[in-house]
Formats: sequence, C-alpha cells, structure tokens
Amino acid sequence: MGKEKMNRITKNIQVAKTFLQGRVPGQLVIQYTDLCNAQCPQCGMRASNDFPRTTLGVERTKEIIATAAEKGFAALSFTGGEPFLHLDEVCALSCYADQQGIDYIRTGTNGYLFAGSDKAGFSDKVKRLADKLAATPIRNIWVSIDSSDPQVHEQMRGLPGVIRGIEKALPLFAERGIYLSANLGINRNFAGRQEREELDADFFRAGFDRFYRYVADLGFSIANVCYPMWSEPEQADTEAVYAATTSDQITYFSHVEKLALFSALFETIPQHRQRLRIFTPRASLHALLNQYRGEEHLSSSCRGGIDFFFVDSADGNTYPCGYRGEENLGPFEQLEMKSCAGGDDCRRCDWECFRDPSELFAPMTALRTTPLKLLQRLRQDPEFIRLWWEDLRYYRACHYFNGRMAPSSSKLRDWELQGAPVAAIS
Ligand code: SF4
Ligand code: SF4
Repeated sequence: MGKEKMNRITKNIQVAKTFLQGRVPGQLVIQYTDLCNAQCPQCGMRASNDFPRTTLGVERTKEIIATAAEKGFAALSFTGGEPFLHLDEVCALSCYADQQGIDYIRTGTNGYLFAGSDKAGFSDKVKRLADKLAATPIRNIWVSIDSSDPQVHEQMRGLPGVIRGIEKALPLFAERGIYLSANLGINRNFAGRQEREELDADFFRAGFDRFYRYVADLGFSIANVCYPMWSEPEQADTEAVYAATTSDQITYFSHVEKLALFSALFETIPQHRQRLRIFTPRASLHALLNQYRGEEHLSSSCRGGIDFFFVDSADGNTYPCGYRGEENLGPFEQLEMKSCAGGDDCRRCDWECFRDPSELFAPMTALRTTPLKLLQRLRQDPEFIRLWWEDLRYYRACHYFNGRMAPSSSKLRDWELQGAPVAAIS
C-alpha cells in the first residue's frame, strides 16, 4: 500500500475517533498580524485606525502550530490584518504546519498585490507570486470582494485598480494549479452603493444573484460569503478580540433584514452551484433561519471554545473565537482541551467560519453525545437532514473546496440551475 494511502487511512481513523469522543476535527484561526494597508469601513483594523499594530512572529507561531498538530487539529487559517504583508512568513509557516501533519491550511488577502495591472511587469510579478504560493501546501486563498460594483469595492477597500488585476491574475494562478476563492463580507453595499434604510428579500435575492454572476464572470470558481459581524459599539470595544467585528452601520442589519438576507441567500445558492463552487452550506443557513425565527432548538450551538479557537496577534493568547474576547484562555500550549469539552451553548453571533462547520458536524457529534435530542430535532425538522445530505453530496462534487483542484464540470453538471430567474435590483 502506498504511503499516501496509508496516511489517508490513518487520518480517517483519527477523524472517526474524534467523532466517537463527541468532538469534531479542530480548527484554529491564527491572527498572524493586525497590520493592514486597506481602508475598509467595515473593519476596525483599517490602516487609518490608530492603534499599536502587532505580529505574532515566526517562532511563536511555530510553537502554536506544533501544539495544534499534537492536539490533533485538522485545520489552520492564517488571518489578519492583511496576511500577505508577511507573505514569506505565512508561506514558511504553512510548510511547517504541513510537515506537522495539519491538512487544511488557508489564508486570504485583500488583493492589494493585484493593483497596478496596467503597469509593465504586472504579469511577471503575479506569476512569481503564484509560483511562490504553488510551492506551499496552502489549500485555499480567499480574496475579498465587497461588492459586485467594482468601483464600490475599490472605494471601500481604498485599493484602486485591484479588480482588473484580480481578473488578470486568476488565469495565471489557475495555470499553476491555484484556484483563488472570492470572499464576500456581507455589507449594505454588496450589490452596489445603497442609501435605502430598509433592505428586503427581493433586494437581497437580486444582490446575491448579481454577486455570484459577477465573481464567476471575473474568473473565480469558488465563492464564499461571510455573514455580517456587526456588534453593539460597546461590545465591539470591550468584548470582541478580533477587530474584524465592527459596530459600523455598513454591516448592521435589523432582525427583519437578517431573516430576509439569510432566506434570500438560501434561495439563490442553488441557482449558481453548477457554475461556482459555493462554500456556504444551505443546511447551516436553514438552521440559522430557525434560530432567527425563535426556534433555537432547531439549530446547533457553536463549537467555538470547544473544538475551534482563535489566537490573537496582540497577546498571542487563545480565545473561544474572535468575538468572545472577555474569555482569555491563555497561551495555546496551555489549553486543556478536555476542560473545553462541555463548552458553552453559544449562538451569540453568526460568524460563519465557526457556525457553518459546527452545523455541518452537528449530526455526527449528536449521534454520539445526544442521540435522543438529535432524533427529536430530525422529527421536528426533517428538512434539515435533507439539506445536510444535499450539502455533503455537493461538497463531494466540489472536491471539498480544494482550491488546488480545478472544478470538475462533469461532477458539477448534476447541480443544474434551479428556480426562476431573479428580478433585477431596482
Ligand atoms: S477587512 Fe481585511 S483588508 Fe479590510 S481593513 Fe480589515 S483586515 Fe484590512
Ligand atoms: S457563536 Fe459566535 S460568539 Fe459564540 S462561540 Fe461561535 S463564533 Fe464565538
């Protein structure tokens, strides 16, 4: 038997053991730096915000990675700030994480390196960048796209010209076996500049439809959306450790708007699943909608602080997530995973990085820990398990969103366009 096959079998056994212990494969988000060169109004780390910037550094991060591997963590994300401001370090640390046995390594960029696409030497610069990344085991690279209107995106980011550069860069990356992923942080301008006070389901449906068409036309083959991370001003200042949570009105959506927004996203995704590999699981949106409709028992609590954690660049300490900054769990090396096993029954925010996988893994853990509760839930909400199964089948067709694999048109063909065409935004 080949070494690769043996490794795969060993990993699968590890995952099965994790579920048998009532846990899910661990995920660690490491904020490598809070330094940034963009001006996004929706984020506290924008360059114009005056606060002492911090970076974890290679040696400290290696210690954290080695501990994560020892504890059996399966996934690692390097976030920022802007991680590409420390690109060499992030590449080296990704290789280190891979050597330690961590499989799912991700990072992202605001795309600033793609500015200046009209200048001589742009293509060579991008090819060198893609070569460098191709030599690492990084599986997914998210590129932020804030709006389907390129001008709005570039104004919000303070990064003129990046969209044209991204469009030129995508095929150069694909030639080197890297399929960059578009990442929308939902904000009120995501479908073009909006002055309207109240946004409704028709607006959101048309907006998501436009967004998916837009990023597919740019040349992306993977897309994700980040659910809004607005928090009350006093919470953003005192509680959130990850400054990507914000109290800016651009990410504020009322309860009624959130119901409309998540419903519209849920309805729009199937119409684009054939053309784009869409990361967002509909089972998770369905459960989130249950929660927003007051049926919290028909949604799963978050694995943040149980199996998923956040390490902050400012103090190098561990937190249950980027939001629960009042719960400093200390250095990651000293984290007692066993004492986290019970965890909180937390649904305080919609952070999809933790909420989506929590929902997807929920039936597996519940089967072991709370089978009766699971049965009760499935009886009351059979639609959830249908959507869950559909998501798993779709994830398989998408090679589990492996950004180092080209989309398979034969596998995606089954996910034909469904539903009526969406009306244009008025
Ligand atoms: S959202 Fe990202 S790119 Fe924008 S200011 Fe925040 S860290 Fe920087
Ligand atoms: S629901 Fe939000 S606040 Fe609660 S653990 Fe998950 S990410 Fe953190």
